[in-house]
Amino acid sequence: MDAASKQNLLDLEPDALRGFFAARGEQPYRATQVMRWVFHRGVTDFAHMTDLSRALRESLLPSAEVRPPEVVDEQESADGTRKWVLRLDDGNCIETVFIPEPERGTLCISSQVGCALDCSFCATARQGFNRNLSVAEIVGQVWLAHELLHDHRAGSGRTISNIVFMGMGEPLLNFNNVVCTLRLLVDDLGYGLSKRRVTVSTAGVVPAIDRLREAIDVSLAVSLHAPNDALRDELVPLNRKYPLTELMPACKRYVQGDRKKSITFEYVMLRGINDSPACADQLWRLLDGVPAKVNLIPFNAFSGCGYQTSTQSSIERFRDILYRAGVMTITRKTRGDDIDAACGQLAGRVADRSRRSRRFSEPRFGELPC
Ligand code: SAH
Repeated sequence: MDAASKQNLLDLEPDALRGFFAARGEQPYRATQVMRWVFHRGVTDFAHMTDLSRALRESLLPSAEVRPPEVVDEQESADGTRKWVLRLDDGNCIETVFIPEPERGTLCISSQVGCALDCSFCATARQGFNRNLSVAEIVGQVWLAHELLHDHRAGSGRTISNIVFMGMGEPLLNFNNVVCTLRLLVDDLGYGLSKRRVTVSTAGVVPAIDRLREAIDVSLAVSLHAPNDALRDELVPLNRKYPLTELMPACKRYVQGDRKKSITFEYVMLRGINDSPACADQLWRLLDGVPAKVNLIPFNAFSGCGYQTSTQSSIERFRDILYRAGVMTITRKTRGDDIDAACGQLAGRVADRSRRSRRFSEPRFGELPC
């Protein structure tokens, strides 16, 4: 059996892995053992999984594997941010970024090869869209970063405390695989991350926001970027399909019934486009009644983008207007821009860019495979 026909166990969330062993006549606790080896000890070779019987190890070898994507490039920014370029089996490349801070380490992962949404200020959009990532390709980013940052023998290393789906792609348009990955991230046999430390970021796929709430409890960030439909239609074309009158109620529904929860609204600061005091006024009015935090993101320029970042003083003025209206607002520090690892700069390498025509097709959910 060749590699392509082996079952990559990284594709299986906990219940699916139990099912995999059950189908082979094995006890479900085999899944627990394998997950501990893979996610807690970083072991991918069945031969080293010593609490599995020899017969089981031998039977797994020809039919299963634990295989993350391949790291083909690694860069470290002057500020400590690290970016990895990962090559997938089909030759496409994606990017994953680790952002160390004094109190936490945030891993920013990709969910698609390229992106179909075509936001006017985003470098990933220029790459076009190729395909969704598999669960193994998404969770494999976490596995690799964890291994590369963590020295098992020393039992130490810079570890990942937070995961954000803010790399390449629109996670809610790869719904099933993203939900399976989320299950692995929060499961104690996986990465055991608290649901508050795992954030899905969306440009606003309204029906999928409701589906996410039903499927799993994680934090949500919404890339807002404009306080009215006219401007948002231009910056985030998905708004034409799901305008603010649909998006804002979906945000409210997402946090309904949980007083501790709020939505993070991302707002990229574009000089002379969306950074006026009038926009700030519209924004706090729009957010009225939604438990919200606003993240102001200084725009990261890339060649040919046609936008400039807002001046420091207009960012501060914008922030102060929101503050005074009682909206919790922080300005995101730009990290890793010297290695093109900052927000919106991830480009990867997309082999066939022609599939963008699929954009705005209804998200397909179907039955969750996991
Ligand atoms: N598609 C999802 C996930 C991508 S997240 C989403 O839209 O939320 C990437 C974040 O970086 C988004 O908030 C995006 O709007 C923002 N971003 C994109 N391009 C940027 C740029 N050039 N400068 C700063 N932020 C950018």
